[in-house]
Amino acid sequence: MDYYKILGVEKGADINTIKKTYKKKAMEYHPDRHGNDEEKQEKFREIVEAYEVLSDEKKRNIYDRYGEEGLRKIQMEKHETQVVEELNRKRMKEYLNIKKEIKCSLEDMYNGKTIDLQVERRIKCGSCDTTCSNSKTNYKCSQCQGSGKIIKIVQHNAMSNLAFQQISVCDTCSGKGNIIPDYDKCTNCSNGYTQTHETIKLNISKGSYNNQLYIIENKGNEGPDVSGDLYLILQEIPHSLFRREHFDLYFKYNISLTQSLTGLSIIVPHFKGDILVSYPHVIQPSSLLKLSNYGMPIHSDLSHSHNSPYGDLFISFNLTLPSSISTPFKHLLQSEFPSPLPSSSPISYHLLETVDSSQSPSQSSQSSQSSQSSQSSQFSQSSNFHYNFSADDNPNMSCTPQ
Ligand SMILES: [Zn+2]
Ligand SMILES: [Zn+2]
Repeated sequence: MDYYKILGVEKGADINTIKKTYKKKAMEYHPDRHGNDEEKQEKFREIVEAYEVLSDEKKRNIYDRYGEEGLRKIQMEKHETQVVEELNRKRMKEYLNIKKEIKCSLEDMYNGKTIDLQVERRIKCGSCDTTCSNSKTNYKCSQCQGSGKIIKIVQHNAMSNLAFQQISVCDTCSGKGNIIPDYDKCTNCSNGYTQTHETIKLNISKGSYNNQLYIIENKGNEGPDVSGDLYLILQEIPHSLFRREHFDLYFKYNISLTQSLTGLSIIVPHFKGDILVSYPHVIQPSSLLKLSNYGMPIHSDLSHSHNSPYGDLFISFNLTLPSSISTPFKHLLQSEFPSPLPSSSPISYHLLETVDSSQSPSQSSQSSQSSQSSQSSQFSQSSNFHYNFSADDNPNMSCTPQ
């Protein structure tokens, strides 16, 4: 393509003439004026391409000397070196990144929190600016030109033309790349860098989750041309009362036989404040009470996948029975809830005794007992919220706030 011909200018035309002619031509062939006329569209593309080259002094020079091919070659080479540089930069940055695990309570993940972190990182020496010399002089080794390496071409044997490159550490500077006289050596560092302890603020946002990654840019180790980033990974500390499952919270409560049969009023010590939950109906041991929107806040990263701003809270029940009951109560129960008799004829008869569970390997009943007492002590606080379940015996036990 002859760019001068396309624009309709002389080879030696000045930049003003090129600009003026381009405007005129571009107006004439602009797609807005010709709709879907493909021939005119192609002409317009050529005009834009010609102008891009001829209006840029460097490109125009290359085009004048080597034509279109010269332009293409230079663009390709430039692209390749850019890609290699970018890759090297990325690799170096990865090497300089610092990774740290941050323990975080469920409550802080619920409410959000700003914390101060102590981070140890490597930075450029402030005294010598990585030259390792007090006067900041660059004492480059003349033997290796500062690379610290010597490349030799070695002939494989005298008879053949085989040769290969041998890379060795520079003897003159011992691979350091520079030779600093003792009187000018930096007294602050040994290799151009120093370790520093820095306080870095981390904003833990509401609804943060386990293994969530926070990246603080350029707060990793410093390198010659690039700094690494600081990678902070949240680690959720297990909560003593609540268990989290995605956006929902689970609260386990030990109920007595009376509560199971007549219903309950309990206080749930929620992160928002205490919630009074009333449910005046029979509670099956395996059932769940659902408190909508009392789960975890949905983190802004994940809000697109969830309609409500919060997950739900579920209360599960662990029925603890009395160790013995009185004879009149036993008779009352038997008359109220008669037990079915075995239908087949037994071959032998056994009267069983219970085994003390504290002597068995599983101590589950004991541990749940202690968790009940710790819950009870926290329930004495004043309540901020009140949940009252409807009088209908709803087997799903779902509820709405009052
Ligand atoms: Zn230094
Ligand atoms: Zn050297």
